Amino acid sequence: MTYESIIGLEIHIQLNTRSKVFCACPADSWGALPNTNICPVCTGLPGVLPVLNRAVIEKAVLLAAAMHCEIQPQSFFDRKNYFYPDLPKGYQITQYDAPIGRRGWFDVPLPGANGAPSGETRHVTIQKMHMEEDAGKTKNDPLRGRRSPSGGVRLIDMNRCGVPLVEMVTGPDLRSADEAAQFLIRMRQLLRWLDVSEANMERAHLRCDANVSIRVVGATELNPKTEIKNVNSIEAVKDAIEKEIERQVKEVSAGRRVEAWTLEWDEDTQTLKKMRSKETEADYRYFREPDLLSVIVADEWRDVILSRLPELPLDRRDRFMEHYKLPAYDATLLTEERSLSDYYEEAVRLCGAGGDPKTVANWVQNEILRLINEMSITAAHLRFTPAHLAELIKLVEAKTITRQTAVALIPKVIATGKAPKALVEAEGLVQISGDDALRAVARQVIAENPEQVAAYKAKPTLLKWFVGQVMKKTQGKANAQAAERILQEMLK
Ligand SMILES: [Zn+2]
Repeated sequence: MTYESIIGLEIHIQLNTRSKVFCACPADSWGALPNTNICPVCTGLPGVLPVLNRAVIEKAVLLAAAMHCEIQPQSFFDRKNYFYPDLPKGYQITQYDAPIGRRGWFDVPLPGANGAPSGETRHVTIQKMHMEEDAGKTKNDPLRGRRSPSGGVRLIDMNRCGVPLVEMVTGPDLRSADEAAQFLIRMRQLLRWLDVSEANMERAHLRCDANVSIRVVGATELNPKTEIKNVNSIEAVKDAIEKEIERQVKEVSAGRRVEAWTLEWDEDTQTLKKMRSKETEADYRYFREPDLLSVIVADEWRDVILSRLPELPLDRRDRFMEHYKLPAYDATLLTEERSLSDYYEEAVRLCGAGGDPKTVANWVQNEILRLINEMSITAAHLRFTPAHLAELIKLVEAKTITRQTAVALIPKVIATGKAPKALVEAEGLVQISGDDALRAVARQVIAENPEQVAAYKAKPTLLKWFVGQVMKKTQGKANAQAAERILQEMLK
């Protein structure tokens, strides 16, 4: 029997608003000491009332629109009741049966065998999208735990209480662990593109639970699924789903049934462990949050928010292929991150009518991408601007400087803040391409290396070595093609 896997994801996204969802505490408390970023509202002290953060709705609506969701003109907050030490109110404020977004979709491009774009996409439906507050964190205290006869002390950090989240539930549309990983990679890209989340998985800005089941290929029914929780990197999501598919195939092949367990991924041992049996919806005793009004997104407000929706990554990729005639590989790479796409387009524009978009793409991919990766910044923060790049490309195209000189100029521009042209003039970097000047250098190289000259007769590939010597003597300023031609003549 051949089986296929059916995967749906539940994603929690931490919005990058300045303050929490119902109080004025900063939303991001990464690196803060435990319980230093809290107030009476987010810790649920008696007598306080939540006040909804307008920016949370705006970011949620923007994201819902990018996922092609129907944005609900009226939605409601509810209380989800459960008892856990990290939930000081005894309930979580969330949206239940009337969420802000419904029925959307997200197309995920699938890579081919060699990692290059395959041109195929997986159409993933989004069942619903809602806003909610995060809970706190509990952890074991290793120091006091060792001394405690009862087996340890649990510590509570409430800094995360009230951090704004959007939860998104996909349909059972993904078909492999790889596809789930691709979904998360594209989701992370989109969240940063829209500036709604930092989407850093290590900092829990993007969290994912996966529902996994299998069925015989060709069947249409859905079998009982298991839910994998607590996976906090894209690699871990992939590993955990792969392990779980393997386990289910083994169970079913042995004639056993898969039971609807909740599983927890253990990063250290790379195994799935069965958790407590899952609460059912009824256990949460949902009811409308009486302290908040319903959320009304009137047409005018919605239109203002949607006017900020940028061209989406895949649309921009397609436009780059169409308009600039870039190959899919280049267009995909240049639209990985929004400020990089902006950088590229600005450089093309500044190169003017005579500029070749593919040449600019090569420069951005080879030099600019390497730099921003080395410096761990985005293109928006690079001190070597699109105007600098356009100027540099023009200098190379006009044969004023060599490519080698141009590449060496980039760190100098960053260090001094001076434009490439000014540096070329100040440092005398103009390319040496006149035959007389090159002949003089070549003559010197030949005179200084009689052994290589003798060896050249038997081994013509040594020509490259001579070109290298000429480049060395001119600090990379020699026109390499001209130098090669002249050396060939002189060594005959
Ligand atoms: Zn607070």
